[in-house]
Amino acid sequence: MIATEVLIIGGGPAGSACAWRLKQRGIDFLLLDKEEFPRPKTCAGWITPRVMRDVDLDPATYPGNFSRFNEFKVEIGRLRFTLRTRQYAIRRIEFDAWLIQRVSENLVQHHVKEIRYEDGRYIVDGEYSARFLIGAGGTHCPVKRAFFSNVNPAQTGSLIVAQEEEFVQPNASPICHLWFLQDGLPGYAWYFPKSDGVVNVGVGGDTAGLKKKGDNLKRHWDLLIEKLERYDLIRGHEFHPYGHSYYLRSPSPTLRSGNALLVGDALGLATLDMGEGIGPSIRSGINAAEAIIHGSTYTLDGVTRYSFPDLLGWRR
Ligand SMILES: Cc1cc2nc3c(=O)[nH]c(=O)nc-3n(C[C@H](O)[C@H](O)[C@H](O)COP(=O)(O)OP(=O)(O)OC[C@H]3O[C@@H](n4cnc5c(N)ncnc54)[C@H](O)[C@@H]3O)c2cc1C
Repeated sequence: MIATEVLIIGGGPAGSACAWRLKQRGIDFLLLDKEEFPRPKTCAGWITPRVMRDVDLDPATYPGNFSRFNEFKVEIGRLRFTLRTRQYAIRRIEFDAWLIQRVSENLVQHHVKEIRYEDGRYIVDGEYSARFLIGAGGTHCPVKRAFFSNVNPAQTGSLIVAQEEEFVQPNASPICHLWFLQDGLPGYAWYFPKSDGVVNVGVGGDTAGLKKKGDNLKRHWDLLIEKLERYDLIRGHEFHPYGHSYYLRSPSPTLRSGNALLVGDALGLATLDMGEGIGPSIRSGINAAEAIIHGSTYTLDGVTRYSFPDLLGWRR
């Protein structure tokens, strides 16, 4: 049995941010992820200035695809305007690999199946044991399943279902488009161009809202493809989208059960207006690490509920 102080399950932004902070403070930890990195992740890859600061990302030394946006073309129903802003884009396959290489000496590829609590320690698959357990395994996190189903049986935040595709489009328009609440969608669709001709297009919506109207995401994906062709943004591409679901932030999620702490999508922290999940995941991972380091309460201080104040430059 391999013993450590903190076991982190999941090496997405939440788990690797937590690991990085523990490493900086000299705490013994292991990070388990079922995938070998770099691994793909369904995500548009939009990040805010706050994310850049939280993970110390310097564009001059960042090795992956990186872009800046000074404006978004926004449509809300029939209202059209240009939103002046300062935002960034990365590719998740590269960003997650970059985050995790900072803690790669403590990373083990392992698919976690069974977790139990015994004599004050968490035992994972009979192979790893730790005093603290971080659940960073995303929407279907095994830590959430093992220790939080009784305390928080039904997740109360809205469940977002989203699908996207990222591909290279020669001569892609560099302007980012966001289409909110169109054709009855309780959510939004996007055209998100990155550098080197990479574009990400996608659509996401609230599952309960869709169901209530007898609607489905597939219809909105088809409408998006039509729109992309109508706006002359994409031509002649054969689409093969990927889908995933995640929770928006609920009013009072249970953050901790004993020495097991949930972070990121495992907790359901995406912002209520834009479904931004990377920033809240990273911040919660850092907060969980700080709580362990200082023996203090794990809180969601600094984990944003809304993205618009950042988009509008109201919050620095
Ligand atoms: C289509 C789509 C577009 C999105 N676009 C954006 C965007 O542009 N900007 C933004 O901020 N957010 C976006 N999000 C949300 C964002 O992707 C998530 O909120 C974010 O990835 C959550 O990070 P995480 O570290 O909590 O989980 P994840 O990134 O899901 O990482 C979880 C990790 O846990 C590992 N894991 C899972 N189960 C096990 C197990 N049993 N054993 C071992 N390892 C395990 C997985 O392999 C994975 O590496 C989008 C989401 C979707 C679906």
